[in-house]
Amino acid sequence: MAARLIDGIALSKLLRLNIAERAARLTVAGKQPGLAVILVGENQASQVYVRNKVKACEENGIYSILDRQPASISESELLERIAALNADPRIHGILVQLPLPTHIDSHKVIEAIAPAKDVDGFHMISAGALMTGNHGFKPCTPYGVMKMLVHIGTPLRGAHAVVIGRSNIVGKPMAMLLLQESATVTICHSATRDLGALTRQADIVVAAVGKRNVLTADMVKPGAVVIDVGMNRNDEGKLCGDVDFEGVKEVAGWITPVPGGVGPMTITMLLMNTIKSAEGA
Ligand code: NAP
Repeated sequence: MAARLIDGIALSKLLRLNIAERAARLTVAGKQPGLAVILVGENQASQVYVRNKVKACEENGIYSILDRQPASISESELLERIAALNADPRIHGILVQLPLPTHIDSHKVIEAIAPAKDVDGFHMISAGALMTGNHGFKPCTPYGVMKMLVHIGTPLRGAHAVVIGRSNIVGKPMAMLLLQESATVTICHSATRDLGALTRQADIVVAAVGKRNVLTADMVKPGAVVIDVGMNRNDEGKLCGDVDFEGVKEVAGWITPVPGGVGPMTITMLLMNTIKSAEGA
């Protein structure tokens, strides 16, 4: 294997030491940081995600509430629940696990979260702050990717970064964060012509698509940094990313594994945003 591994579990452990210290300091000062996680319905994957988030809070001294609501909850009832959490002084961060049942407008729900408690960074105020270079919560997944890039010391200024995917929660904020660090950013999506011609020019590739083998070895410049955000299942039902890891690791300079790469960093940055919210409250 030519590429070095970017270990999201090890980096998370390091960052969580700092998070736990800050949580303990806040608790001593009578302001224990608190996160509320709202889960609507019985989506299997969502149940695993929220359980992991609550567990990470418990392990790092952050107070947490797991607010489980039935899939039949009405939009107005959910909005009322968020209003109550907005007003709750023990809660510094509110997260609504997506996707929501189709009878609920998820945009309306996200916009109901107080921007000061929007630790997922999905509110329009947070997105606008990111776009304009103002202070706001950064979405956890791209924020975690930036921490990984800084940790390995890869130069960002002037680097060509190709982001595959343009969702509001990963691709677009990822591109904005890279741009803030003076990378030259290309954003690709399903209508992009000749993806490989673009990724082959990249010093950094971030794949955030949700499809296996979107990035193969022939699409990667030797020595490039490859970050795999994707979460898919292979034919054996095992978790895998968007990148053909076996092939690409022979060409890239650095690569993230799936699992054990971006996933743990996402939760770590959620904890970090919750601490920042409590420190600023
Ligand atoms: P999404 O909203 O479905 O967006 C996927 C993006 O990929 C879209 O912009 C789409 O383009 C683009 N795309 C689809 N097929 C493509 C192709 N063949 N070539 C180039 N681009 C293509 O997904 P998401 O929410 O951003 O998530 C992406 C992946 O990351 C998923 O696997 C998700 O599970 C994973 N994820 C992981 C974490 C983590 O913590 N590890 C966190 C969040 C998400 P169009 O816009 O043109 O449709």
